[in-house]
Amino acid sequence: MGYPRVGAGRELKKAEEAYWAGKISKQELLDTAALIRKENWLLQKEAGIDLIPSNDFSFYDQTLDLSLALGAIPERYDSLKDDRLELYFAMAHGYQKDGIDVTAMEMTKWFDTNYHYIVPEITRNQRFELTFNKAAAEFKEALELGVRTKPVLIGPVTYLLLGKEKESGFNRLELLDRLLPVYIEILRQLEELGAEYVQIDEPFLNTDITDDIRDAYRKAFAAIHQSTKLKVILTTYFDGLADNAALAVELKPSILHIDLVRAPKSWEDVVRLLPKEASLSLGVVDGRNIWKNDLSHSLDIINKVKAIIGEERLVIATSCSLLHSPIDLDNEKNEISLPVQVKRWLAFARQKVTEVVTLADLAGRSPSYISKAALQSNVADMEDRRTSALTNNEEVRQRVDAVTPDFASRKSPFSQRIVEQHRELLLPLYPTTTIGSFPQTTEVRSWRSKFKKGEITKDQYVALLKGEIEKTIRIQEEIGLDVLVHGEAERNDMVEYFGEQLSGFAFTQNGWVQSYGSRCVKPPVIYGDVSRPKAMTVDWAVYAQSLTDKPVKGMLTGPVTILQWSFVRNDQPRAVTMKQIALAIRDEVQDLEKAGIRVIQIDEPAIREGLPLRKADREEYLDKAVESFRISASGVKDSTQIHTHMCYSQFNDIIRHIALMDADVITIECARSQMNLLGAFADFRYPNEIGPGVYDIHSPRVPSVGEMVMLLKKASQVIKPGQLWVNPDCGLKTRGWTETVDSLRNMVEAARIMRA
Ligand code: GLN
Ligand code: ZN
Repeated sequence: MGYPRVGAGRELKKAEEAYWAGKISKQELLDTAALIRKENWLLQKEAGIDLIPSNDFSFYDQTLDLSLALGAIPERYDSLKDDRLELYFAMAHGYQKDGIDVTAMEMTKWFDTNYHYIVPEITRNQRFELTFNKAAAEFKEALELGVRTKPVLIGPVTYLLLGKEKESGFNRLELLDRLLPVYIEILRQLEELGAEYVQIDEPFLNTDITDDIRDAYRKAFAAIHQSTKLKVILTTYFDGLADNAALAVELKPSILHIDLVRAPKSWEDVVRLLPKEASLSLGVVDGRNIWKNDLSHSLDIINKVKAIIGEERLVIATSCSLLHSPIDLDNEKNEISLPVQVKRWLAFARQKVTEVVTLADLAGRSPSYISKAALQSNVADMEDRRTSALTNNEEVRQRVDAVTPDFASRKSPFSQRIVEQHRELLLPLYPTTTIGSFPQTTEVRSWRSKFKKGEITKDQYVALLKGEIEKTIRIQEEIGLDVLVHGEAERNDMVEYFGEQLSGFAFTQNGWVQSYGSRCVKPPVIYGDVSRPKAMTVDWAVYAQSLTDKPVKGMLTGPVTILQWSFVRNDQPRAVTMKQIALAIRDEVQDLEKAGIRVIQIDEPAIREGLPLRKADREEYLDKAVESFRISASGVKDSTQIHTHMCYSQFNDIIRHIALMDADVITIECARSQMNLLGAFADFRYPNEIGPGVYDIHSPRVPSVGEMVMLLKKASQVIKPGQLWVNPDCGLKTRGWTETVDSLRNMVEAARIMRA
């Protein structure tokens, strides 16, 4: 359904960043890209894949590619239209050169993944025109290499739904009539070049949609079929079609693709509805996780479907594009961070391609000897994983089973706790604080890498970090902040840092997955029951607190975020793993309290991202997420103040559950959206204390005292001054020291003005 495009050694990322820095030519960048595409096609061809995707490559994001192809280019880029690649990158991340200063387009998360797409900006009078048929260009390129691919395109309805109206008074679906002729022109050109199939991705079919969206689907696909003879592979993923199954069939796909990892039973309705001319593509190999496929289990499903619709109408596939999995397990050589016993249970993109072929072979009439052998060893691997002592920790399981409701509840309600906290902490009105991290300079990162390589000793490394913590505390005191932090200099990443100290986690060396543009993340692998062998952050927090009389905030990552940003075991419900993590964090919170830390922040920036696509499943997810957070936070005295932090998501529709988390204080990103978010907190009458961010940390720009006062006044119109905190939008890790100090000075001054 799509193959990762960054390259097994992140060649695309490196080439792009070198190109942006002016270190390599455009031609060198184009050559790297062409090589990656070629390798991906040939790899799949050699593995035995029949329908090989093209146009799954992208320099930044496939949604942006389509915006460019359709000519949906916002006016502010008009002066950059001469050079297509420059224009494209300007849309992706802004342009500030030669007297031109244009902002980037908005970016947001792709469904419930951590992949970010560039949001199409749609105006009422939006016009579309074919500017560059990238799909056709890549189809031709593959054909010249001897591969007749199936081009992949985001469907027209999903494209519009992914977009955002840039002015009020219209609905973006109204633009379908204008968009379709251009979209169809792309398809016609593909047909002329000799394409037989086209994969049209319409994941919105797996969401709750309204009747006008249904009509848009009917209109779009009727137009497509009328104007081309291309066979359409209508592709859905990340959930099941459910009540949209009949609609999907009505759209007359030649092949309908469904995700049987996320919705294992969804084939049942579909086979009943599917007409004889259409085939069914079974997405049985998980495109979003790193576990080896349970081949016998998949074969069971395949054989059931085969018995009903017949072998000729069956297609075997990954559940979704492999964009969301790391590339090649064979590149993992470090047996300490990824033990061989665990590696045996894993499959990355390249291995998943082979699984698809093996399944197709085994489901066919005369399975090859190789496939039979593969099945045999797969059965052994599955048995090994099921019975391994590594995955089962009896003690942890008993502890989870013994959790009672009082684990998730503080001793007294907020109204009582806050009185004690105010007495304990003696903070002024509009208390000031930061979100946790301070600038992580190249120097700090070089200490860590020297320590990991054994070039400096542990004692030397600790001494360097202590120096950094002391500097960070002194600077905060001097600026006049009220609640201080130690600065997180010891952390590489807010999930990896904890994963490395918890049992049940493994780490890859090259398991990179694209997050946005050239940026990749390397999620840890949770393979076993999670527990905390010893305290993880206490020494650093205690050291920082020993340097000052002001309260220092202990800083932890919450259970939902650790789960969300890892590859999670699929052999038990996610909620069970989340509860195990919650108990580990609870122990840490209690240890911090015992060591004299009076304020503890548990970050949950990823809570919104895991929200299921279907409304009916959301309540259960949110209940479990809230429960886990509360388990982690509730083991402390009333006088200990619990903070949480969230950022860069749409919180309006989960505000009720945010309140149910019952943190004493929530700090939340707001400056970037000019306090728009606060409306939700005000309408809802958020009961506890809240720090709406007043400083956008995404740019080196120093916000003025005046603008922060203005934001605080805006906030104090809807939230009582006694409830308000003053803080930046998020951590300051990516900033430089100079701008950070200047900005925080202004922020503290803004708080003083508010108090006065
Ligand atoms: N405490 C973290 C930091 O300041 C929070 C980061 C985040 O919200 N993503 O870096
Ligand atoms: Zn944040």
